[in-house]
Amino acid sequence: MKLINIKKELNISLVKDFKEKLDPDYIYLPIEIPKQDVFKGEIIGNHIISVSGRVINKNIVENNFMEEIKPVDDSVQIIKKLFPEFSSLMGKDIIYINCIDKDPYCYNRYYILKNNKELVIEALEKVLDKFKIKLAFLVLTSSQEDIINDIKEFITYNNIKFKVMDDLYPIGFCDVLKLKLNISGNMSIIEVEDLLDVYSLIKKKIINTEKYITINGNNVPKPLVLKVKLYSRLSDYLKYYHLENNSNIVLNNSLCGKIVSKDIIITRNTDLFIINKTNKIIEEKCINCGLCYRVCPIGINPLKKNNKCIKCGLCNYVCPSKINCLKVGGNNV
Ligand code: SF4
Ligand code: SF4
Repeated sequence: MKLINIKKELNISLVKDFKEKLDPDYIYLPIEIPKQDVFKGEIIGNHIISVSGRVINKNIVENNFMEEIKPVDDSVQIIKKLFPEFSSLMGKDIIYINCIDKDPYCYNRYYILKNNKELVIEALEKVLDKFKIKLAFLVLTSSQEDIINDIKEFITYNNIKFKVMDDLYPIGFCDVLKLKLNISGNMSIIEVEDLLDVYSLIKKKIINTEKYITINGNNVPKPLVLKVKLYSRLSDYLKYYHLENNSNIVLNNSLCGKIVSKDIIITRNTDLFIINKTNKIIEEKCINCGLCYRVCPIGINPLKKNNKCIKCGLCNYVCPSKINCLKVGGNNV
């Protein structure tokens, strides 16, 4: 499997700034809320309410800025429902904590580690004890190495180690990491955000109501990582920028993410907005060079539908004819 260094090629900056913006006036749920008032920390369906306040217009909550959080009734059930991968952790030989962002222009996990060094280790030690796991690795890339020494300070167990991977794309996708690490049945991979969220549920019965997002791109004057409330709107944060009209907002993946509007709502699956100058792509005919097939980290044919596709976009990236292979193969629908 050959991975790629795409960092320098797309003219997008490194992120060196982090801010918290935790006071949206409103949040917007994707479902109708069956009550008049909601509380921060409540769960409705699978949706985590991130502010307390009055429900207006069926699915919109007006924030009353009371930050007190409601503990969940049954944290064991919530962990089962929202973090199913923890159900099979008991007695594993090794767990790998994935601290690598999926996209090379996303810096959420870098800042999650930087801001929560002690908490990550406290959470990991608790999980090792609770699930009787023998060994844990924090998995990072060489570009995150500067924080390893700071984290090491807090480790008290000798069965917590680091694994540093080459900074190549798309190593942050769990499916690719599993192949690279040769993960077998007695090992598991856990995302670092899930580790912290589950620890908060185990320790305090409190669900995380916030989300790290990265705003980056070649039309963003100051790229940064933001900590925001779940179900707030991107437009609440873009008001701090003067964005040119000739911009596309691309969701989660710089190579093949969907173009979205600035009114998109931030969910647990929202990680990255790439705001680039619009760039007209002229597709040419396929020359059957096979590059898209050879680059695929999962080893599938990008030009055929396959549910193993992880939507990394490498096939599009290498295609000399600028063909949207994901669209041709039906893998981006
Ligand atoms: S088909 Fe393309 S997008 Fe899907 S995994 Fe392979 S290279 Fe990535
Ligand atoms: S990389 Fe592009 S040109 Fe080459 S085989 Fe794939 S789709 Fe065709």
